[in-house]
Amino acid sequence: MATLKHSRQREAIKAYLMDRTDHPTADTIYQAIRETFPNISLGTVYRNLAFLAENGDIIRISCGEHSERFDGNTSPHHHCICSVCGRVDDIFGLNDQIIDELASIRYNGSILGHQTYFYGLCSECVEKQKTLDK
Ligand code: ZN
Ligand code: MN
Repeated sequence: MATLKHSRQREAIKAYLMDRTDHPTADTIYQAIRETFPNISLGTVYRNLAFLAENGDIIRISCGEHSERFDGNTSPHHHCICSVCGRVDDIFGLNDQIIDELASIRYNGSILGHQTYFYGLCSECVEKQKTLDK
């Protein structure tokens, strides 16, 4: 029965991530999953997230010095991390192939791919900045 419970927890974590686009941290996921599974530990949530990420069911986003985030959307896309509030936004439609080709021109070896994240200001922080500048 332990295995069944564990797979239910894993499914709940996956479903939670599929439902949102805000790239939550492990801690945020833990707080939400605890409402359904009060006895679940943060360690179990971490292990499930690692398993789902290795399996390709979710994406683990390492965003520099900011904490790790998780994404239920596994379609190819990029992320921008807000330097002010830490919010992680999606950017779709960038041509990864061109970036690889540009790197290949400058590299003697063989480029197989790349991992890139952008940083800047999210739209809300841009608006706040505008009000401050007035
Ligand atoms: Zn922001
Ligand atoms: Mn995303």
